[in-house]
Amino acid sequence: MSFLNLGLAPSLLRALEGQNITKPYPIQEKAIPSIIFGRDVLGIAKTGSGKTASYVLPILMATQGQQELRDRHVATLVIVPTRELAVQVQEVFQSLGEFLPRPVKTMAVFGGVSINPQMKGLFGVNVLVATPGRLLELAENKAIHLDSVKTLVLDEADKLLNLGFQEEMNRIFGLLPKKRQNLLFSATLDENVDQVNKLILNNPEVINVAPEEQENNIELINQTGYFVNEENKGPLFRYLLDEKDMDQVLVFVSSIFKADHLVKKLTKNGIKAAAIHGKKSQGSRTDSLVKFKNKNINVLVATDLLARGIDIEFLPFVINYELPRSPKDFVHRIGRTGRAENPGEAITFVTPEDAHHFKIIQKKMKKRVDMIESDKLI
Ligand code: AMP
Repeated sequence: MSFLNLGLAPSLLRALEGQNITKPYPIQEKAIPSIIFGRDVLGIAKTGSGKTASYVLPILMATQGQQELRDRHVATLVIVPTRELAVQVQEVFQSLGEFLPRPVKTMAVFGGVSINPQMKGLFGVNVLVATPGRLLELAENKAIHLDSVKTLVLDEADKLLNLGFQEEMNRIFGLLPKKRQNLLFSATLDENVDQVNKLILNNPEVINVAPEEQENNIELINQTGYFVNEENKGPLFRYLLDEKDMDQVLVFVSSIFKADHLVKKLTKNGIKAAAIHGKKSQGSRTDSLVKFKNKNINVLVATDLLARGIDIEFLPFVINYELPRSPKDFVHRIGRTGRAENPGEAITFVTPEDAHHFKIIQKKMKKRVDMIESDKLI
């Protein structure tokens, strides 16, 4: 299979060649013809699968035959969870559209920067890439009208929905025309994504290129449990940080209150830490994630829900500071370290009260975890 067979225009093929992209990835083989045909698509695919080009190419094709719209109206709207992704997606539109006979103007808008240049720039835009909050602000200020949107893309929909954008998304859906093409891409098909799928997608072509949930990869993860009393968790954590030279560790707790409390304690002890949870603003979460990725902070404390929005391919250490109620959440947490060549380590703190529940978790994941008494270590 080549891009030629997928019905793409020669100018797009030329742009692909220029980037040494010669053979379509599976998601592209499946999505491109369906999108050109006008169907809704639900793509379950991670970053790295080639999902961006799978919608950018057919959308660029469509722009060539589209009527000119009135000022401050766009035909294509791409919604993304973060400003980084907004910029990235805009760049893909620009670079793949380079040789099209009719130029395509793509613009990225996102929060955290002044709104004025964005308001002024929204003229003659064909493709708008936006984060939800800023998009609504622009719409409320009448800098953009969404009633001419023909194609809506939700990219990284799982993150959009898990980062607490539901309410904003619903308001955006209300501004869009009923008749439109919907393309939804998500790394996983969790409950939130499935709800939106059912709400907005019309008989979609479902394309799943995500690897199977990693339940059987659990064998790859180095797991250790530490018996510890609640009051000794802090000293044990500091001991492990030091002993194992941890410079990037994701720590799970069960509540927002606990997350903030732990970060305060760690900071007091000179450990660079931040929390991400539902009560933090989008800006603060993105900021913490970037710092964590760059190792400017070493400890990221998260609740289960927000952890799903953490886009780090591999983590060397995960610590269950508190046990989750659900064994499924436990597997999801520790799966953040599972990688064949370099498995990393998942550590679980188990208080006497937790012991029974931890036995249940081990039974459910069909794996026994070696336990260490922490008394002698701290
Ligand atoms: P994405 O999953 O959209 O974030 O894309 C991941 C990376 O794969 C990007 O750097 C693309 O340029 C690259 N890419 C996309 N499609 C292909 C392809 N068919 N062949 C080789 N590289 C590709």
